[in-house]
Amino acid sequence: MNFIADRMSRIDSSGIRKIFALAADLKNPINLSIGQPDYDVDDAVKDVAIAEIRAGFNKYTQTGGIDELRTEASVYYERRFGVGLENVMVTSGVSGGLFLALLATVNPGDEVIFADPYFVMYKHLVNLLGGVCAMVDTYPHFKLTAEGVERVITPRSKILIVNSPSNPTGVTLSGIEMAGLAELAKKHRLLVISDDIYDQFHYDGPAGSMAGLCEHTVVLNGFSKTAAMTGWRVGFAAGPKDLMDKMNTLQQYTFVCAPSFAQKAAVTALRLDTTEKLNAYRRKRDLAYHGLCALGFEVQKPGGAFYIFPKAPNGNGNDFVTKAIENNLLIIPGSVFSEKNSHFRISFAATDDTIQRGLDVLGAIR
Ligand code: PMP
Repeated sequence: MNFIADRMSRIDSSGIRKIFALAADLKNPINLSIGQPDYDVDDAVKDVAIAEIRAGFNKYTQTGGIDELRTEASVYYERRFGVGLENVMVTSGVSGGLFLALLATVNPGDEVIFADPYFVMYKHLVNLLGGVCAMVDTYPHFKLTAEGVERVITPRSKILIVNSPSNPTGVTLSGIEMAGLAELAKKHRLLVISDDIYDQFHYDGPAGSMAGLCEHTVVLNGFSKTAAMTGWRVGFAAGPKDLMDKMNTLQQYTFVCAPSFAQKAAVTALRLDTTEKLNAYRRKRDLAYHGLCALGFEVQKPGGAFYIFPKAPNGNGNDFVTKAIENNLLIIPGSVFSEKNSHFRISFAATDDTIQRGLDVLGAIR
């Protein structure tokens, strides 16, 4: 008997499973694979969550989230990017927002454009929905440029996903580069999905967002990275009213709402001063980047996020990562995030000591 829906054959997690199978034997690995900060949720945020739970704020909220957080998200964008958000809804993380946005927009055969290397969810959700991934090969600089996007545009192009700073490369787009993408999106009537989840991990110069650059933009952001609330599952989405209405309808029949107490705590998280965290992560970025350069790795300097994406010395990411894991270092092959297998991803969301020990192993095996 096969109860599995046909659509499940369109997604595959074998790449990352192989790595976890290899890693399962490691006793105390040097772990540079993790996609979350090495610090815990702020005490001020925890205090709000605990107080709300004790006060009985444990029931369903409105489908689209509590008004306080919807308003605060808009205020945050106004403060950070000079443009408030309209029609904000609270989602179950950025993953939840991404799922709702794609579910509400992708028809079978519709083409969704994004950079390769990509955040894995983009490819698998688009495929699951019967859409077509139109990937822009961004090697070796990893910038999603208007010229690159133009090359893959066809009459079936519908959506452009922009992720700056990027997972897995850490590469950021400047305001001018974003404006170029927005122009192109307008010309070809594309819906932009702006995945801003790493917006606060932006090390050199002011961060940008596609918010406000193009009328047809869905902004996605959340609390898993800067606020380290990965397990609390809160994010937000904002965009054109007709689309947000549909996403709310879908949320009603899927996630129902984001966790109640976590929504309250997220309001506090948006108001925190994150300068110290940013400075610490800039130092980690420098440690990882300069360390890799000194070892002779071919690597782009990440302007943001907490990832760096060097080329494997023999040009084979899977082989190099296997060797690293045999030497107790956990990193991820680029093939998990790309149609190519030439690079590997390091997460520097780790203690400085762990980063240094990781570099030592990379130096020894290269
Ligand atoms: N987008 C990107 C680019 C990410 O790296 C991640 C987390 N790894 C997410 C979205 C999803 O984050 P969450 O669902 O925890 O908000």
